[in-house]
Amino acid sequence: MTRNLAASVRDRLKQHADAANEDFNLTLTRYGLERGDSRSRLPPLLKVADEHARRSTLQCPAAGGAMNAAESFRDRSFLVVDPDARIRRPEDLMAFALDAGGRFQTIPKGTQVRIDAVKVVETGSRSNIVFGHATSVNGNRLFGWTSTRNLEGKFMNETIGAVSPAPGASRFGPNAAWARGSFLGQIELAAIVDAKLEIERLALSTIEPYAALVAAAARDGVLVTLNSGFRSYPEQKHLHDGFERGLPGFNTAARPGLSNHQNGIAFDIAVPGGDGNPTYEWLKKHATRFGFVRTVSKEPWHWEFDVDRARVALQAGTFMTPNVTA
Ligand SMILES: [Zn+2]
Repeated sequence: MTRNLAASVRDRLKQHADAANEDFNLTLTRYGLERGDSRSRLPPLLKVADEHARRSTLQCPAAGGAMNAAESFRDRSFLVVDPDARIRRPEDLMAFALDAGGRFQTIPKGTQVRIDAVKVVETGSRSNIVFGHATSVNGNRLFGWTSTRNLEGKFMNETIGAVSPAPGASRFGPNAAWARGSFLGQIELAAIVDAKLEIERLALSTIEPYAALVAAAARDGVLVTLNSGFRSYPEQKHLHDGFERGLPGFNTAARPGLSNHQNGIAFDIAVPGGDGNPTYEWLKKHATRFGFVRTVSKEPWHWEFDVDRARVALQAGTFMTPNVTA
């Protein structure tokens, strides 16, 4: 890197260290700067310090303006596609609101709505329903709470709120980032609706590039959705333990501390069947232009946001890093 860039990286790391109330030398060690190895993981993680200051408003080139990274639903309106889009009771979202005649209140199919608030109701250990508070697009008419599954797209890929580190959180906490076996620090996350309408988390710093990828695919009529994003240390340990014990439903999973799902650059994208799957075929052609590259053998779903390695792959006419053999 050039001298100026190195200086600016050090400045921003210093801000990051100050914000985290952490010894600056320790921060430098964590980012591997003494080893002259600042190239590969640095940019996305460095952005975290900025985002603390700017909160969640990012410039999204794909959307042509400011993007609310942590609450993307605020940037759009949604078409009601369910013919029976029932309104819920505000005091109990699992119950339906009735009109004076005792009939279910609904939002007519074909109505375009805005969502100005979101609530998640857990309906099981991994299942939940995301409810949205709907108004007319001009805001003049209030409809009320309804399931976002009644809306076109079912809220897939919408971010529904920032997840910030708790004061004093540990290296095993929900926001703790790791790479190559080292704890990096606490990072800002946002909750996002995944391919199964469950809630995943992404590093706030990687939401803008992911949203650009999703938007470009959508313009080509292809749906890019998420199966897994950021994982905490205990979550990665759970997956690794299940894999080691050969439990059903567990895929290959790196040892805790070593997975790039623990620092925000790894995305498991729904590409059932791999080759021939329309989403996978689209990613093979276009993902590297958006900074995403396939990095793990036999895992067509696992893509990483790594601008440098994606550029190398693009220039080599491939979509994978050299270690990927299948
Ligand atoms: Zn993965």
